This record gives sequence, C-alpha cells and structure tokens, in this order.
Amino acid sequence: MSERDPIADLRRIAFLLERANEATYRVRAFRSAAKALAALPVEEVAERARAGKLTELAGVGDVTARCVAESLAGEEPVYLRRLLATEGTDLDAEATALRTALRGDCHTHSDWSDGGSPIEEMALAAVELGHEYLVLTDHSPRLKVARGLTADRLRRQLDHVARVNEALPEGFRILTGIEVDILADGSLDQDEALLARLDVVVGSVHSGLNDDRAKMTRRMLAAIANPHLDILGHCTGRMVSSRPAGVTGPGDRGHRARTRAESDFDADAVFAACVEHDVAVEINSRPERQDPPKRLIRRALEAGCRFAINTDAHAPGQLDWQRFGCERAALCGVPADRVINTWAADELVAWTRD
Ligand SMILES: [Zn+2]
Ligand SMILES: [Zn+2]
Repeated sequence: MSERDPIADLRRIAFLLERANEATYRVRAFRSAAKALAALPVEEVAERARAGKLTELAGVGDVTARCVAESLAGEEPVYLRRLLATEGTDLDAEATALRTALRGDCHTHSDWSDGGSPIEEMALAAVELGHEYLVLTDHSPRLKVARGLTADRLRRQLDHVARVNEALPEGFRILTGIEVDILADGSLDQDEALLARLDVVVGSVHSGLNDDRAKMTRRMLAAIANPHLDILGHCTGRMVSSRPAGVTGPGDRGHRARTRAESDFDADAVFAACVEHDVAVEINSRPERQDPPKRLIRRALEAGCRFAINTDAHAPGQLDWQRFGCERAALCGVPADRVINTWAADELVAWTRD
C-alpha cells in the first residue's frame, strides 16, 4: 500500500496552480480528477491504475492519470515536484511577520456566487494555510453577473455553513458574511435584518465607478455610516492588470485584459469616516487590484484607520495571495495591531457586533 494519497496530491497541484494564477482549465483538470477519484473506493482507484484504466473515468485525463500512478507508487508526482521547485517567493521580514500574525481572511467567494469552488474546499484550503477562520462573503443580489445571492439564497447559505462548520476540524470555523454592493445612494444591497445576522459585512462599490467625486464621496460616506458595515472593500475599484484567466467578476461581464482607473472620491473624508464609525479599510491582495494603492494606504494609516488584509479569493489557491497584501501593507508601515484579521475569531466577531 502506498504512503501517498493521490487525491491529496491532485488537490495540492490544483492549489499551487491557482496560487500561481494559472489558467482555469488547467486547474479544473486536477480538481475534476480529484473529485472523480474521491467518489471511488480506494481499491478501485489502485486497481484501475494498475490496469491503465483511470482515463476511462470522466474527469481523468492522461496527465492526471500519470500523477495518480506516480503517487500510488509512493513517489512525489513529477508535475507536483516541478511546481514545488518554482514556488518560492520570499517575503521580507516585516511582510512575513504581518503574514504570520494573520489568523483569517475576511473576504472570500464560493461557487454560490462567482467563485469556482464549493465552500467546503475553500474552508479546507484555509485550514491547510493555518487559518483559524474564513469569512465567506459571496455577492449581493444586484450583482447579477456574479450570481449575487438573494435574501433567500443567503438564508440557505447560512444553514449550509452551520452544517459545514460541524464537520470542520476543531479550532477552525467559517464565519458568515457578505460582500454587499454599495448602491448608488450609498445604501447596502441586502435586507437589514439579514445583514445584522452576519458575522462580517464587507461593502464594495461595483457599479457607477465613474461617478463624479462629490457623488462617489457621498455614496461611500453613507455606506460607512451604516451600522452594519464592517469593512470597506477595494475602495478605489482600480484594475492594474488583466484579470486572471477564467475569473469573471463584478463589472467586467466576462471580458478580460482591461485596466480601470481609480474611482474619484475625497479620501480624507472617507478615511475620517472609517475612523469615526470604526470601519476597517480593506487591503485587497488580488494581483490585478492591489487596492488601495500605497499612497492611500499611507493616508488611511495616518488617519488612524484599521485595516483588513484580504484575498478576495475566488478559488482555494488564491487564499494564499494574502502575502501580496502583506507586502504592500509592510511597505506602508502598517503595524499588526491595526489589522483586524490578526484577531482571533471571537474577538473579530465581538468587534463587528459592537
Ligand atoms: Zn468586489
Ligand atoms: Zn469580492
């Protein structure tokens, strides 16, 4: 019997590909194969591998079958070895310290909205990264392009998360949440009562990003003053590079390779309001967002804001992108005690409920 778990190896490969921002179809090949094999008894997987019949299974191709065969033989699959050999990206000491201090992620998506993976898989990847919690923040109803959740679907998701939590390892839990659209008038795109039930509310502007300065400022100030809002998501809405392959997201209707300028707003007024209402400013780690830009992180820091260093992950491997946010935060001198996701889950929830 082999020491290695071929399904774990396939998932590990998928994770590393996602983290490296590789094309979605490539990642999917490994996730589909892992899923197909997980549905079979262990002996059947081994038997099919011996007989060269793995590829008869839907979802298993030549490359994934080879990985499984290598894994069953007790070897590290060559594909995995190659990925591991090229993965090392060193953070400097301050960014590393910040990353180490983070205990969770406050902005993530699942396949209930525009993410690519089930909640369970996102949670398991977060466990592997050493997180103590993951806040699930799928989109709100008006964001139809991202399959935003109606109040009804969100209620169902809350029940589902409660069940998933029961099966997760001790010391880890999924916190409930939402990435709620900040509407044109600054109101939030979900039932008040439902927002009140959630552990964490991230609010983001996804539409009318070209509103003039006065209008955008009013809009953001109204959202920040809303007692349900905990975190101001990717505040400028900028896109500095093309979206990762296969990730379709808010406002882009599936088109890729577009950059977008920052929205115009009175940053001093917005950050002062964040301090007044104790709303954290998100440092969004996505490579194509890098939002807010460093000059605004510094201004928010001077204003006295708290921060949340989030991935906005739409796939498990992207949960490891937090280190990009940490790098930018460290460059701006953001200390760990200003970052809300350095807190334990209970502390975080006590703060959001306050
Ligand atoms: Zn967003
Ligand atoms: Zn998001």
